[in-house]
Amino acid sequence: MPCPSPIVAAAVGTPRVAEASALAGGGTLVVPKRKSAMATVAVARVAPRGRLSLIGLGPGARDLLVPRAAAELRRAGVVIGLDQYVDQIRDLLRPGTQILASGLGAEEERARVAVEQARRGHAVALVGSGDAGVYAMASPALELAGDDIDVVGVPGVTAALAAASLLGAPLGHDHVVLSLSDLHTPWDVIERRILAAADSDLVVAFYNPRSRTRDWQLRSAMDILARHRPAATPVGVVRAASRPRQRVTLTTLGEFRPGTADMVSVVIVGCSATRVVAGRMITPRGYRWLRT
Ligand code: SAH
Repeated sequence: MPCPSPIVAAAVGTPRVAEASALAGGGTLVVPKRKSAMATVAVARVAPRGRLSLIGLGPGARDLLVPRAAAELRRAGVVIGLDQYVDQIRDLLRPGTQILASGLGAEEERARVAVEQARRGHAVALVGSGDAGVYAMASPALELAGDDIDVVGVPGVTAALAAASLLGAPLGHDHVVLSLSDLHTPWDVIERRILAAADSDLVVAFYNPRSRTRDWQLRSAMDILARHRPAATPVGVVRAASRPRQRVTLTTLGEFRPGTADMVSVVIVGCSATRVVAGRMITPRGYRWLRT
């Protein structure tokens, strides 16, 4: 309890100086007022403000992890993410960093643990592939985070950009990114968006195109686009971009085979202006000065 003193009150106009000053920044008193002939002291411990960094590790290759992400990882006291991602960056962490990797199956659970750890005053890094804000952990974490912690977002190279750079320049004009995962989004909503993209002649980049349990959605999506675009429209499939088993396939809407894509692939479907030049998929910027 802060300790009032009538002598101090008479001298400086307030009954508490040492303890009140120690507690001015919040926190709890750990050493109550002590006096000597020369000084009076009190000590309070201020809980550190927690920090939650939302870090995208990029598509896989270490040199596609942005330097700011590496700096945030070195700063972290707690790292949270799936094993495969934590394994990618273990060497960047300080010794003694707490790793909460496996056993946290659901996204919601990882988000909750991350926010909870930050609230306790830790510097927490929540890691995932690509960019943390694209079909990833940033949104579930921020839905839970209050203004009692600091939040730092570090942008990462998302899969669509990694894939596009391997294919050429397919995203050179307007494009849309759609996830074909109907685990959290009803298929009729996804279908409506594909239809809107088809109708608007947008280049489409599909994330989560196909998995063992979701094997018909990609065919269905491509059929919708094929009803609006010529069979010769270029399609690029990039599997495991920047990882050891990277595979780049260039085909057309008419010849596309869903089997070329899996859950670590991005499928990019061109618009009416997209073409292939020297084996590279290009969507022209369409400015008049280029048309001569
Ligand atoms: N946050 C991630 C996306 C997570 S959703 C990002 O920004 O990239 C998972 C989907 O991302 C996968 O199904 C796949 O479509 C895509 N993906 C992630 N890494 C990839 C890679 N290295 N190559 C191709 N696609 C990838």
